[in-house]
Amino acid sequence: MHHEQAEQRVQELHTLLRKYEYEYYMLDNPSVDDFTYDTLMHELADLETQFPDLLSPQSPTQRVGGSVSNQFQKVEHIVQMQSLQDVFDFAQVSNFVTRCQENFPNAVFSVEPKIDGLSVSLEYHDGKFILGSTRGDGFTGEDVTENLKTIRTIPLVLKNSLPLLEVRGEVYMPREQFYKLVKQQEENEEQVFKNPRNAAAGSLRQKYSHITAKRKLDILIFNLQRCEGKIFETHDESLKFLEQSGFHVISGRSICHTADEIIQAIQVIGDSRQDLAYDIDGVVIKINNLEQREIIGGTSKTPKWAIAYKFPPEEKETILREIEVNVGRTGALTPVAIFDKIMLAGTSVSRAVLHNQDFITEKNICIGDKIIVRKAGDIIPEVVKSIAHENHAVPYQLPDCCPVCGTKAIRDEGEAVLRCPNISCPAQLHKQLVHFASRDAMNIDGLGTAIITALLNKKLVQDASDLYALTKEQLLVLDGFKDKSAENLLRAIENSKTMPLDRVIFALGIRNIGQKAAKLLCEYFGSLDEILKANKEEIAVIDGFGEIMANNLYQALHSNSVQNLLEKLKSAGLTMQYEKKQVVSSHFFSAKTIVLTGTLSSMKRSEAKQRIEAVGGKIASSVSKKTDYVIAGEDAGSKLTKAQELNIKILSETEFLEKL
Ligand code: NAD
Repeated sequence: MHHEQAEQRVQELHTLLRKYEYEYYMLDNPSVDDFTYDTLMHELADLETQFPDLLSPQSPTQRVGGSVSNQFQKVEHIVQMQSLQDVFDFAQVSNFVTRCQENFPNAVFSVEPKIDGLSVSLEYHDGKFILGSTRGDGFTGEDVTENLKTIRTIPLVLKNSLPLLEVRGEVYMPREQFYKLVKQQEENEEQVFKNPRNAAAGSLRQKYSHITAKRKLDILIFNLQRCEGKIFETHDESLKFLEQSGFHVISGRSICHTADEIIQAIQVIGDSRQDLAYDIDGVVIKINNLEQREIIGGTSKTPKWAIAYKFPPEEKETILREIEVNVGRTGALTPVAIFDKIMLAGTSVSRAVLHNQDFITEKNICIGDKIIVRKAGDIIPEVVKSIAHENHAVPYQLPDCCPVCGTKAIRDEGEAVLRCPNISCPAQLHKQLVHFASRDAMNIDGLGTAIITALLNKKLVQDASDLYALTKEQLLVLDGFKDKSAENLLRAIENSKTMPLDRVIFALGIRNIGQKAAKLLCEYFGSLDEILKANKEEIAVIDGFGEIMANNLYQALHSNSVQNLLEKLKSAGLTMQYEKKQVVSSHFFSAKTIVLTGTLSSMKRSEAKQRIEAVGGKIASSVSKKTDYVIAGEDAGSKLTKAQELNIKILSETEFLEKL
């Protein structure tokens, strides 16, 4: 490759890797699997070795990938939280061992599973847990102490008290727990976490600890970062001490003396992978002696006394037999590949999502093809590519019409997804009713999938409002119902009539309107009448809403079907009331709509927002006629101009602080 081509490729790789890192570390929602990311990172490292002048300190190869969100207080790490140099074959493992033993012929190694979670540091003073933080960029992390306290296996008081102790561990989500969470997210049509690692990161970096607590995270400790009052010679000794102190320390470790022993230990760990309750993505090999570690040192990103051997993603060939099109609750038509059964990462797989038409066309996927299916870190298998077509095969085309009700499917501008627009489509209706009755929506205990199927088959319900007209006699006709169970279900339906308005709005199953959005909406407008009176622009100013959400909501609420349903629910006796949070009604900002713009010198914008909301003010993201005050910090821009145009009262930072 010429220098010029290399330079261009290096730039491209910087941009791509930064985008992937942002999605992975900040959004907890990667768009590519780890293998793809690692391959690009290695390509960049190779180019930088070949053309050393293209290596810059800002390069992704030089920095620990995470970053620090404004949502949390920053924590400076006294001992840097480094990443690990990864290797992908046994030859590289042997090279590492040779390098270490050239320096220290007596070097021995700790070989441990590499837990696929996120790294945290836990600090104890006199045996008491006082601070917990994420790794962040290795130098600065986020204070997540309160959220970490919800993890039962983190001792708050240690059995062995030392003046100071800091340990490092990996927070993870057990696989079973992950499956449950995904199922729940799918039922609620919320964004689904891609794998347990992202789920763990997303759950730990929550604003509210009670949400983290519900996610049932766990932790395994793998390093002593620093301590006062005790000296250890080896890593192994320090981990044993931590175990006695009350920590759950990483298990499945072994001490190895040669490269052969290490490779054998890697294979043993690899074979045990499926029996573990959590995901591992490799094996970490570390020098055991702490003084030797100190002498070998490291770079600003990784230590030189350890490496991570990463398991390759498992890929298998199979034959694509058919493509099934599923209809989601909001009408999305999702193609699913059905192929000959294969064993992948310990589970039997015969289905994988194909996302949308663009994905199928781009990969040139035809029925009957020989395809490669992969399961990387992700739990959900994916079709990697097609490697052989049958004669004259043409790429699969999604049907023009909904496969269940036959209505012509539509594709909204800028969207990749095809949708069935018929909200009475039986497939949608079934999922819609399941959602309506679900715990987070109307919480109708006992109204599960099977009963909903039976009710639809017997034509006892056409929409959610019909549930409220069901009688005991009608239920007794259905399979499995006895006096008591029929009465219980009717009582649960009756009880749901007093569910607050935000639950009812969430239960309607409007696209992009989840629990949080429904609550924000009710908190802002206070009643159904006010919500229905608002236009799109008035909805869009709610902090946390955007134009698309406001548009979807407005369109849905003003469609004939939803208006009819709301009327029928009202007649059925649903109260649909909302009680706003108690506010300090006498406060200057109480019940006022406020827009923040520019930079405040005395506090972060998130803090200003929190303090305004605490006294009953409402934050909006843009200026409209409904705005009461605009608080303008340094370098305020277009929002300030708009406020001036609309004659809205503007407060300087000093005035704001006085009023607060
Ligand atoms: P890493 O996850 O590959 O390895 C370092 C981490 O391993 C440490 O921070 C530590 O938390 C963890 N670990 C688990 N068990 C351990 C043990 N027994 N001993 C020591 N450490 C242990 O490195 P990273 O810097 O956290 O992340 C980089 C990796 O993240 C990439 O290689 C890639 O796989 C993934 N990534 C993926 C994307 C994407 O878009 N898919 C984007 C960015 C990063």
